[in-house]
Parts: sequence; structure tokens; C-alpha cells
Amino acid sequence: MATHRYELASDNTAPISPDAWQALAEANAESDASYGEDKWTRRVCELVREIFEIDCEVFIVFNGTAANGLALAQLCRPFHSVICHEHSHIETDECGGPEFLCGGSKLLAVRGANGKLDLAEVEATLLKQRELHSPKPRVLSVTQASELGTVYTRDELAAISEFARSRSLFFHMDGARFANAIAALGCAPKEITWQLGVDVLCFGGTKNGTGGGELIVFFKKELAEEFDYRAKQAGQLASKMRFLAAPWAGLLSDGVWLRNAQHANAAARYLEAKIREVGGCRLAFPSEANAIFLHMPEQLVRQLHERGWHFYKFIEPDIYRLMCSWAVTERTLDEFAADLTALR
Ligand SMILES: *Cc1c(COP(=O)(O)O)cnc(C)c1O
Repeated sequence: MATHRYELASDNTAPISPDAWQALAEANAESDASYGEDKWTRRVCELVREIFEIDCEVFIVFNGTAANGLALAQLCRPFHSVICHEHSHIETDECGGPEFLCGGSKLLAVRGANGKLDLAEVEATLLKQRELHSPKPRVLSVTQASELGTVYTRDELAAISEFARSRSLFFHMDGARFANAIAALGCAPKEITWQLGVDVLCFGGTKNGTGGGELIVFFKKELAEEFDYRAKQAGQLASKMRFLAAPWAGLLSDGVWLRNAQHANAAARYLEAKIREVGGCRLAFPSEANAIFLHMPEQLVRQLHERGWHFYKFIEPDIYRLMCSWAVTERTLDEFAADLTALR
């Protein structure tokens, strides 16, 4: 294998975004308070309140698995359950972290086209729960943008929220790619979160350009009670919090987070057009954010891998994911398309 190319493997194979790096260097120029008492952490909390236009509670943890698990644990007791999509990260990619951190709460995975929750399926799942004998449904969780590269519209989220409210369920949003969803919808962050009744958002920065550190945003401050203890006990209180916070401050200042997401989404549109031009691979789901899912013949995949391109099979038997990041260049996309053309 001559080269290793990770540009389309994931959005966490990308480097740290220059503005995040710059802020990190600035934070590194002096001493500051520890355990989140520093000015960078304060600045991030202020920026989040500005961007979401609400006085909310903001916490920083090391990664998205911890953010999701701890956010859900805050809403659930061990005998509760969380309704989520069968392809959701909390269900498929967190090694039981949410169940562990909740102390036993069960995830109830439901189907839905294109990675989005289908309320009829959710309803059917709820009906299967036997009062007292099944864990009590407590939270409805969505991922925005979804794991399959689609984006819930504002109306879809409004319907889910209304459903959750009518069943007394909390509304959790895994926003590992929240920025890409906002870039795709072109709306204000509040319009698809607290204004629709989202209770807690896990806001991802790693895939948007930090080196680590995800935010947990509680839109109802009372829901955050004693969360600081929960995070600390789970080993998720960084003593040098400022070095997680500073890159975030870099992203959230002057709209960098949105520009990074817009770049990633636009790159996916460009790549999708190229792939259609070449022909031979069919899209598995509508590509609405920065991911492209393709049905690909095994031989083509093998040959692309041999040319150095890393990317993953996501769904059996033949659905593969190409992911565009804030950093991917037109040249990379052209080179991938040229290899596709040569191999088809
Ligand atoms: C990447 C990702 C996360 C966070 O994963 P970590 O590896 O724990 O940081 C959470 N949810 C979704 C949908 C993701 O894609």
C-alpha cells in the first residue's frame, strides 16, 4: 500500500482547526485557574448562551460518549429507558456507556427510514412496554445530524417534541454533528433546540475542529442540578479544563464553527456530484450534511483501499460511508473521483 489517505474516513481524522489551535496557543501563554474556574471556560459558556440565545447551563467533558451517557444519566433513574434509533451512536457505538452511566437504564432501539426516528415505530415500542414490568420510558433521543448523514427538519423535530411532551418524555439531542445540521438547515440554533423543547444537547466540537472536548448544554437550568458532581465522579472533570475550553472558544468566536460545518457540507455536495458523474455507485441515503453513504461493489472497495483510501463499511452487506470534514480539500475530492473513474 503506497499511501494512507484518511481524509474521507471520518471527520475525526481531520486536524485541529487553525482558530482552535490559535486559541489553544493563547491559553498556553499563561497560568490560569484549574477545574473550569478559568476565563476560557467562562468565555465558552458565554458564547454558547449567545449562540443559543438563552441562559443555559454548559459543561465540558472529554468526549461524546461521556457527554451522551452523563446527559442521559442526569435524566434517568436505573429503572427508566431511553428511546433511540437502532443506528444511533448511543445504541451502536458507545459500548453500553449510557446504560452503565445510568446505572442500568435500558435503551429501546427503534427503526426509522434514513436514520431518523419514525414516530409510529416509537409508539409501537411504547405500547410493548408493560407497566411496572418493563423499564419506564423516560427519554426520547435523536441525533442531529443523524448517523446516516440525514438532517431532521424543524417540522420533524417539532412533531417528535410534541410526541415526547405528550408522553412526559425528556428530549435529548446527540449533536456530535449539530454544526453540520445548522449549516444544512440555515436556521438559528434555538429554532431546533430549546424552542422545540429539547431539554439537553450534546454539542460536538471534535468533528468540527477541536482536538477533544464536547459540550453538554442543559436548556432548563434545573435539570443540571448536581451535574458537576456526576461529571466529576465519572472522571470527566478536566483539571486543566482551559485546554478543552480554549479550542471551543476559537470555534465559537466569529462563526468559525458554522464556516467549518458549511465547508464540510459543501464538500459532501461536491463529492456527491462527482460520484454521480462517474456512476456505478448508488447513494444509500439522502446526503444532507457532510456524510455520503454508498452501495459499493466489494471489488471497487478493495481497489480503493489498495490505493490508500480508508473508509468504513457501515451497514451490511454493502453500504460504505465517506465523510467530509472541515479540512477536506477540493483536490482530495478530485483525486478520489479520479480513482473512482479509473477503477470503474
Ligand atoms: C462521533 C460521535 C459521537 C461521539 O463519539 P466519541 O468518540 O465518544 O467522542 C457521538 N455521537 C455521534 C452521532 C457521533 O458520530
